[in-house]
Amino acid sequence: MSLSHAIAKAPRPPPNTTPPPPPQLACQNCRKRKVKCGKEKPACGRCRELALPCVYETSAKKSGPKRGHVRMLERIIGMFAFTLVK
Ligand SMILES: [Zn+2]
Ligand SMILES: [Zn+2]
Repeated sequence: MSLSHAIAKAPRPPPNTTPPPPPQLACQNCRKRKVKCGKEKPACGRCRELALPCVYETSAKKSGPKRGHVRMLERIIGMFAFTLVK
């Protein structure tokens, strides 16, 4: 009883004070065409060549719970491999 209570009351870890820099993503035109983006700023080579507006998405939407989920999956897979080897 006291243990679970202590866990529930434990302070949460503080949010990241220094978030990691967003990953360098290809610009929207390159992503649409599924070509490799040179990622030059302000416009990548391809967009300059085609005279297109080079837009980089800067939203950090995808930094959600997926990382932890993948880690958990890796753990499960590792456990599976272990039992299979056994
Ligand atoms: Zn590009
Ligand atoms: Zn571009």
